[in-house]
Amino acid sequence: MVPVRRKAEAVSRLESDRVTALHGAGGELMGKLLAERILPRFKLRSAGPIGLDALDDGAVLELPPGQVVVSTDNHVVKPIFFPGGDIGRLAACGTINDLAVMGARPVAMTMGLILEEGFPLADLDRILTSAADVLAELGVALVAGDTKVMGKGELDGIAINTTGIGVAAHAISDAGLRVGDAILITGTIGDHGMALLAAREGFGLETRLESDVAPLWPLVAQVLPVGGITAMKDPTRGGLAAALNEMARKARVGIEVREADIPLRPEVQAVSELLGIHPLEVACEGRAVIGVAPDRADAVLAALRGHPLGQDARIIGHAIPDYPGRVILDTGIGGRRFLEMPIGDPVPRIC
Ligand code: MG
Repeated sequence: MVPVRRKAEAVSRLESDRVTALHGAGGELMGKLLAERILPRFKLRSAGPIGLDALDDGAVLELPPGQVVVSTDNHVVKPIFFPGGDIGRLAACGTINDLAVMGARPVAMTMGLILEEGFPLADLDRILTSAADVLAELGVALVAGDTKVMGKGELDGIAINTTGIGVAAHAISDAGLRVGDAILITGTIGDHGMALLAAREGFGLETRLESDVAPLWPLVAQVLPVGGITAMKDPTRGGLAAALNEMARKARVGIEVREADIPLRPEVQAVSELLGIHPLEVACEGRAVIGVAPDRADAVLAALRGHPLGQDARIIGHAIPDYPGRVILDTGIGGRRFLEMPIGDPVPRIC
């Protein structure tokens, strides 16, 4: 048996400013990582005396009444720090937004970290702080987590899994569109994917491209009481094109959108032309597509615009009886064409 003092010395000798294999090995060094770097940043439980703050084997939750909505996401974004955010903010927002577009208030989140040996602990601190800031803003508790380390070269720095738990009065599907419904978008399209691509390629373009990554729940909470929402979806991988096609297919309606009404930042338009990538196929991480019954569309639009995240909200089209399962893009001057489901996201590792 190793004497306690010698063990403490051994632990401190093993400490460095980088992740080592021992940080995921379940012993003293992992305990220190948890106790000093991870747990203090988060509010740890929403209810009950058992859970992460007791380092129990699982979380015990007491949830408010309603339908429980659960969603999970893996995050492997490259680069991990990008204009407008980082993998920590993205990991928290990605999961929370999937709950939000189902009409669920996020209550709790779990987080699994996989780290590459040698990953700078200062970068881990920044990433954890970004995730914790999102959860703190929304009052979401971190209720469970896990940390593993892979060898150098076996992983590209860091991967994060998050699972979100939310509660909805009545969960909203992305399949609920009805003919006549207005199609709304809460803000500009393609900012996240284009910002990542520009940062990755390092064109040295004088652009102000920034990711739109943001938690959608505060915006959704503001519009839900207006009523009339029939379907909601966040246009992440595959962008607006994928989201609209999926909504049309699931509801077996056509969707017609007017290209001129789709809000696009000029710098997103410019980079997309430069690279030959269709901006409507590029991911957003802080936007929602919303289907609204025609008599509530203007009221929902006004509620969206009353929130900072929804200032650029627009009605971009309608669900139509023709072309069920297809999306028609009205390009102006009498031009119409199908907006196809993208084969894949044109930008890999964007989330
Ligand atoms: Mg989604």
